[in-house]
Amino acid sequence: MAHTIWVLIELENGKPARSSLEVLGKAAKLGRAEAIVLGAAAAEIAPELGQYGAEKVYVHADETYDTYLTLPAVETVSNLLKQHQPDLLLLATTYNLRDIAARLMVRNNIGLITDATDLNFENDGLKVTVPWGGENLVTATHPYQGTGIVLVRPKAFALERYEGRTAEVETLTTTISTEAQAIKVIDTVEVASEGPALEDAAVIVSGGRGLGKAENYHLVEELAAALGGAPGATRAIVDAGWLPYSYQIGQTGKTVKPTLYIAAGISGAIQHLSGMKGSKFIVAINKDENAPIFSVADFGVVGDALTILPQLTEEVKKR
Ligand code: FAD
Repeated sequence: MAHTIWVLIELENGKPARSSLEVLGKAAKLGRAEAIVLGAAAAEIAPELGQYGAEKVYVHADETYDTYLTLPAVETVSNLLKQHQPDLLLLATTYNLRDIAARLMVRNNIGLITDATDLNFENDGLKVTVPWGGENLVTATHPYQGTGIVLVRPKAFALERYEGRTAEVETLTTTISTEAQAIKVIDTVEVASEGPALEDAAVIVSGGRGLGKAENYHLVEELAAALGGAPGATRAIVDAGWLPYSYQIGQTGKTVKPTLYIAAGISGAIQHLSGMKGSKFIVAINKDENAPIFSVADFGVVGDALTILPQLTEEVKKR
């Protein structure tokens, strides 16, 4: 019998988040994909989820999901899980979905695997691939009985199209309890940025501790801007307070897969590599010729990033 795989779709400004659609496409390859979409815009979005793989969509068009943090979604999904018991619930790894997945795990006493980069049903159960210690991949068998929950890394799967597929829509009319309306969202502040978002950028220029001090990071930003890309960072300089966490790439930051990744003053620790080694073409600038970053680089420059970055920016601007 085909497995039933649910995907909780996250909305961003009233639109389905790309990371959720990537997961939905994978779910449709694994079996019968069903989506859950919650929030004021849910009814509008539901029909279009068919073309991303959903055969059925559970919809609750209630703005409570948008005005309160995660608990209303936890309550609704929890009730749906008990009622329908799908084989699997998949969620993309984002701040809110991570929070929801953890709460669903505790509330329903079911197993959760995080950070999956691949998953497939095999004879003896669900096999989930997760990075281990940065660069290595291990395959875990999900120990679930009943529904299993897996958080999937963004960009682990490409966006799939299922042209012509239409999803059956089931409209939910449940009342959200007052207990679930505990944490109200008072304001949402978007970080202003000029270039593309790090996750979507075709070019990323990243800086590390080798830049010496926070005041030198503008060299990374300038090259990124000249190339129409986004600037990124290692955890070392985020922890040092040079930049906000949203810039961090790696195991505990963002996973990126640009066409071109330029790493400047970055040693290439496994935790950093795990977030960027899927990039198509990697250029490394490091003054230590033995730096591990060169082991994944397609093109390496042994030299001082503080001199090379402005030269590169100047050259790019001339073209
Ligand atoms: P360093 O390792 O200090 O490297 C600096 C490099 O700059 C060196 O190779 C040096 O040769 C070079 N350099 C110095 N001066 C110059 C110059 N003038 N020009 C050119 N090169 C120069 N790290 C992440 O990045 N992302 C993560 O998500 C992440 N998660 C982690 C999770 C855990 C559980 C742990 C334990 C660690 C994690 N780390 C992560 C930290 C990681 O192990 C490294 O400490 C970090 O990536 C190092 O950052 P860096 O390359 O900027 O600094």
